[in-house]
Amino acid sequence: MGYWQGRVARLMAAAALVLSANAASADAIVQTKGDWQDKFRQLEVDLPTPNTYRTASGAPGHQYWQQRADYSIDVKLDAAGKRLTGRQTVRYQNNSPDSLRYLWLQLDQNIYKDGSIAELTRTASPAKDGGDQVTYGALARAQALKDTHYGMEIASVTDGSGTKLSYTVVDTMMRIDLPRPLSPNASFTFKVEWAHNIINQDIVGGRSGYEHFRDNNTDLFFIAQWFPRMAAYTDYAGWQHKAFLGRGEFTLEFGDYDVAITVPADHLVSASGELQNPGDVLTGTQRDRLAKAAKADKPMFIVTPEEALANEKETDKATKTWRFAAKNVRDFAFASSNKFIWDAMGVSQDNPAGNPVLAMSFYPNEAEPLWSKYSTWAVAHTIKTYSKYSFAYPYPTAQSVNTWDGGGMEYPMITFNGYRPTTDKKTGKRTYSANAKYGLIGVVIHEVGHFYYPMIVNSDERQWSWMDEGLNTFVQNVAHLEWEENFGEHRRKVNLPSEITSYMTSQGQVPIMTQSDSVLQFGPNAYTKPATALTILRETVMGRQLFDHAFREYSQRWKFKRPTPSDFFRSMEDASGIDLDWFWRGWFYTTDHVDIDLASVREYRISTGNPDVEKAFQRDEYRRDNVEPLAQIHNREEGLKTLLAREPDLKDFYNENDKFSPTNKDRNKYADLLEGLEPWERDALARAEKDGDWVYFVDFANKGGLVMPLPLQITYADGTEEFLMIPAEIWRYNSKAVTKMLIRPKQVVGIELDPRQEIADANPSNNGFPRKIAASRLELYKAKDETQDLMADMLVELKAKKEGEGKQEGGKDVPLTPGEQK
Ligand SMILES: [Zn+2]
Repeated sequence: MGYWQGRVARLMAAAALVLSANAASADAIVQTKGDWQDKFRQLEVDLPTPNTYRTASGAPGHQYWQQRADYSIDVKLDAAGKRLTGRQTVRYQNNSPDSLRYLWLQLDQNIYKDGSIAELTRTASPAKDGGDQVTYGALARAQALKDTHYGMEIASVTDGSGTKLSYTVVDTMMRIDLPRPLSPNASFTFKVEWAHNIINQDIVGGRSGYEHFRDNNTDLFFIAQWFPRMAAYTDYAGWQHKAFLGRGEFTLEFGDYDVAITVPADHLVSASGELQNPGDVLTGTQRDRLAKAAKADKPMFIVTPEEALANEKETDKATKTWRFAAKNVRDFAFASSNKFIWDAMGVSQDNPAGNPVLAMSFYPNEAEPLWSKYSTWAVAHTIKTYSKYSFAYPYPTAQSVNTWDGGGMEYPMITFNGYRPTTDKKTGKRTYSANAKYGLIGVVIHEVGHFYYPMIVNSDERQWSWMDEGLNTFVQNVAHLEWEENFGEHRRKVNLPSEITSYMTSQGQVPIMTQSDSVLQFGPNAYTKPATALTILRETVMGRQLFDHAFREYSQRWKFKRPTPSDFFRSMEDASGIDLDWFWRGWFYTTDHVDIDLASVREYRISTGNPDVEKAFQRDEYRRDNVEPLAQIHNREEGLKTLLAREPDLKDFYNENDKFSPTNKDRNKYADLLEGLEPWERDALARAEKDGDWVYFVDFANKGGLVMPLPLQITYADGTEEFLMIPAEIWRYNSKAVTKMLIRPKQVVGIELDPRQEIADANPSNNGFPRKIAASRLELYKAKDETQDLMADMLVELKAKKEGEGKQEGGKDVPLTPGEQK
């Protein structure tokens, strides 16, 4: 609540102006007394101590190190048996200053194993009315896990010469004990033979598996987290071997990959890296088309929809081996199917350091006509946009594969993306909704954007989801607005500050700085809130020039390295020269929200002290503030004649003069006042009388807790407007209430706080003076007749049953896919 004091009051003595500007008291910096909080307390006291690995500026230190893992893998896909069998050689390079007695690897497939932490700790999700329920999805999932044994089967672990190594599996992790400690700067080579059954992702959930198309009995395989991968060993956490619970993603090391993938001969394979043996696996026509597409500025088919349709109709018992190489990547994924349409185009990067990139998409006919129109364009647009704000894309390919419907997932050079058209059951015609179109463009930009964060800027995903999802969602939305002006109108994903307020005022909320598996309300916490925070930093707090410079600096410092949150916070400050500790504190370490109340505005003129000016002013003020008695008004209306009107002789001095008439005594007093002033004070008073400025005291109350800048739009009586941005530092002495004095040459008729809705203020109703009437539309409500009509109810029920057929719930209620994108 607040009020607008429209009354014009006079501010006596010019000295008061000077005094009121200095409101800070020495007591205010004592933090332990009262409920005073230092919202600007420097973050250094809470961040890890800088060292030779990570500097106080947020850059890698001069002794920064990270481990390296090179892989050579032979894998065979048994498409009919839904099983993957592999043999791999890993060369692990110990760049740390420590001797290691054991190595940890990640066996992510064990999440589906009977008795895994993830399976045992799944909780029932109650029905909407709070009662118990079993969904069709939950039932089908339980049946699938009962039928097949999932999880990684380890056949052997040996050293380079074939000697067995002892190993221990701990949930989704595996420890290999080394015959002798691995010294700093030494490497160790070992081999693992393994196999696992592939899950039906539609039913079991998760990030990979296969999709079965019932209509034509075909399959599409999208394979990730599929081989034993080195866990990360770091300077800040040692081994990152926190079990995979389905949420906190994958913390991995960089290395080179040589992967031979054996699949049915009619399959096409899309994979991280570059195809090494096109002569063995592609037809001459396909190779010719691919060469042309690489130089094309629009997507071209390598495999057309018609060819794909013909291909999926026959099954080939023979196999082919596709060989891929990927240099300096932190993971490897692939997709394989006889259903794929394939298109590609060349992308030339604006960045002079950028190599040409082959953007490609792989999708079944079920994805048409949507995918051939937008997928590869979205890949190309992402590479161009992200390169502008971070660094040149360093890899030769960038791919989008249509896998599950609705979600998305990223790996180096390859992404799995959802969104398909809908097929009309009667006509068989496929059309797509605006949601599917913008959903597809958005998810491709998001997942391809992950090539940068975290596939290159390699943050610790198991620990901090926001470092990849938040940063990536922020750049994603920059790319949305560079794709199409009104992107946000079709799909509200442009980081509007006003859209995060309902989350920020909600209960059951944790700070952004919370380990991934413990985050409540994952989507807004890990994606939207950090992305919106960065948008506010860029558009409001720092400005684009400083923000873009700092964000690019962070990205370039940490590409192919592993940043922590403090490296990000410090880099953004170090490169911009802006103290942002208050912002990181408020937005990343608390659950406070923004609600700033423009509580009151008081208007003044400077008193001249001259009775000939001031007494007249006081009379006006008196008359405005003291209403005429109603009885007197009624007397006049009735034509009542007073005695004084009838007998003018009764008039004297007091009928001609009131208490506001200046007297000689007043004038002498004024002369004395002027006499007593120093010459400079007299000048100031004379200047004030000449300027006739208006003085405003504007009170702000911080009701949400977050301190933020105050964007103000001031409207003057002459209709002109002024935009004033008061930095957040205005709150440094008092984070709960501040008063700003404004001296203006013109009278103010209105002040609006945050008129462009840029600071995520959760309650705009207390932002304007004078207060505004909230305008909306009220739908008329027609009262329903609640009397039961059994005959009608019977008809309705039958119809509902018919419609419900074939519309059962799928496996999509599985809470392994918490966000719509991963
Ligand atoms: Zn993501």
